[in-house]
Amino acid sequence: MSAAMIRKIAHIGIAVKDLEEHLPFYRDVLGLKFEGYEDLPDRGLRVALFDVDGVRLELIQATSPDSTISTFIERRGEGLHHIAFGVDDAEKTLAHLTESGIRALDPVPRPGASGAKVAFLHPHDTGRVLLEICEKGRDVPQPE
Ligand code: ZN
Repeated sequence: MSAAMIRKIAHIGIAVKDLEEHLPFYRDVLGLKFEGYEDLPDRGLRVALFDVDGVRLELIQATSPDSTISTFIERRGEGLHHIAFGVDDAEKTLAHLTESGIRALDPVPRPGASGAKVAFLHPHDTGRVLLEICEKGRDVPQPE
């Protein structure tokens, strides 16, 4: 295997303090297709999902002071948090990256939003951008 099997940009995550504060801009002013919310209580996150022609935009808000988004916003403020690449097989891709000397924050893929399997790469190895590899789960979040 000579290269990671990146299919597309799956989603872009933006860290915000308050989803409701930013929702009107993305939904009403930009007119993006709002697909609803997803709660990830075990990670202390609430996410607002938009579809931009097959690329998902996620506004991510912390619901717990322990969450990674809380830490990120404390250190750097609101803003672009991560870019996720869509792959067919998260385990294989992660193994390839690890063999290539790229450090992963997740040694094995773990459950992400919408039933995906995800792993984050160390920003020091990616040009200081938090990159995620994402093996897609179901397309549409389950209604609550
Ligand atoms: Zn993500």
